[in-house]
Amino acid sequence: MHGEGLRLYAQMQANKPCFEELRAPRPIMEWQPDQAISDLIRHLALQNSLQYAGKGQAGSVISRIMGSRADLRQHGKHIAPIVARAVADANAKAMSDGLDSITEILEAEAPQLLERKIQTRREGLPELPNLNGRKPILRFAPNPNGPLSFGHSRGLVINAQYAKDLDGELILRFDDTDTTVKPPMMEAYESIPKQQEWLCGFPAHRIVIASERMEFYHEYAREMLDSGFGYVCTCSGDAFKEHRVAMTECPCRDNEINTNLERWDSMNDPSGYQPGDAVLRVKTDMTLKNPALRDWPAARIQTNAHPRVGNRWRVWPLLDFQSAIEDYLQGVTHIIRGKDLMDSTRKQTLLYAHFGWDYPETIYWGRVKVHEFGSFSTSQMKRDIAAGLFSDWDDPRLPTLSALSRRGIQPESLRAFWVELGLTQKDIAVPLTTLYSHNTKAIDAKAPRLAFIRKAFPIVLKGEFPHTGSIASHSDTEMPSRDYSIDEGVWVEEDDAGKPIRLKDLCDIDENGVVESINRCDKRPVVHWVAGGKPSKLTIATGQDLITVEGIMEDNKYPVGTIVQLERIGYAIVESDGLLMVHD
Ligand SMILES: [Zn+2]
Repeated sequence: MHGEGLRLYAQMQANKPCFEELRAPRPIMEWQPDQAISDLIRHLALQNSLQYAGKGQAGSVISRIMGSRADLRQHGKHIAPIVARAVADANAKAMSDGLDSITEILEAEAPQLLERKIQTRREGLPELPNLNGRKPILRFAPNPNGPLSFGHSRGLVINAQYAKDLDGELILRFDDTDTTVKPPMMEAYESIPKQQEWLCGFPAHRIVIASERMEFYHEYAREMLDSGFGYVCTCSGDAFKEHRVAMTECPCRDNEINTNLERWDSMNDPSGYQPGDAVLRVKTDMTLKNPALRDWPAARIQTNAHPRVGNRWRVWPLLDFQSAIEDYLQGVTHIIRGKDLMDSTRKQTLLYAHFGWDYPETIYWGRVKVHEFGSFSTSQMKRDIAAGLFSDWDDPRLPTLSALSRRGIQPESLRAFWVELGLTQKDIAVPLTTLYSHNTKAIDAKAPRLAFIRKAFPIVLKGEFPHTGSIASHSDTEMPSRDYSIDEGVWVEEDDAGKPIRLKDLCDIDENGVVESINRCDKRPVVHWVAGGKPSKLTIATGQDLITVEGIMEDNKYPVGTIVQLERIGYAIVESDGLLMVHD
């Protein structure tokens, strides 16, 4: 303690101004930036102007400077006008000499600021590891046992974004070799590519259908047997499980290659092994720490007809095997998958080692849970639709892409949502409102305002007021305004009736409908109203419920599919029999 006290004392002495300093009048000097700070300001101004296409904003440059240079904050009032000048100069240069001239300056003087711009363009996604100058080949591989849902949209968006940004390729692959538990649905082969293009904004570079590439899987299965790193196991499921738990090898493992080939033929022969009698296994090591990796199954017998290829094949690859072979055949460079699939990577890496292949780079993400969507599986939705709980795959309560699209969710909103969440391995929960706020940005400028009166209540207007006129459809004045014509009264919502209100853009009235003022004269509530109009309904999907609200809709000629903004309610999309709520 004593030592510490001495040290503080010495410090105080050293910092104490000397007598002369205290006495001498301090010159009142305006703070001036040194050369380095001047350059920093000029460069950031140029960068900002470049980023906003010649419309740089002094405010954002100032906050960047203050955010990164705490030491300059005390000089804020001197810096602000310098920045404003620098931004004006940069914008003027962009205007007169073009944006390229700004890029040139930055390339010569502050290239690190240009790199930053490239990163922001990639919008939150990390660099793909070990690209090494290659163009990435990525794949999205849904099971076509139903149409695509919100959960699928993540894989599509992220893979497509990388393919697009890095001039690579996106493969859309149907992993459809399970005819028993998740049998393929024929319509899905049609709908999935359409939904993929809708969502990504471009069609996949290749479409691969696994059930049509069975020759390859059989060829590599045989090669496994020929080369001695695969075997046909005829142990029952329970018997093999005991071996797996005890880390012991099953009796089939040491069979001769010829025995394995005979058994393989028998698997493929309708008069030979029956489903469940035999499986093809990859030889790994029965003492591996992770039980899932111990001699994992690669193919099995399925006798139910496949909707595309019927009974042409009897032995079908399991997903880990089929997917591994296909990734190799297609030259996939990067696999992006959920961290729950780490075991698949491990299994497939062992298989690749047998074949002498290099496994693709793998990137994992954690789960994203959207509360409002609950936990729907494709199979569950299929059952519920069949049972009549939902009208179809595009029932607005379902988290399918067809339902989201019907509900007016824009593909760019889904893209922005997933790219913003990025590739974190953390499990995260996100409210649906996050997606909605992206969607608001996408639709607001296009959505004309429209009045829909819930629980419509008629009010007869007494006094002088303009019987005809027009109201803006949007603050964006390019949108044609809405004309109204009032005979003697208007509809308002029941809750708004019986008290002094202002009819929006029309007049102030008292509780009896007497017009008190054309201009807004006090702070009474402003309410929306409809003159004329026709009965309609607004359908709102909330969780498992579909609520129908009856009301009077303002006269309009918007075609089906138009997204409108209902005054005081939110966005809705025009359907043939009324309105469907988008979100508020
Ligand atoms: Zn066995």
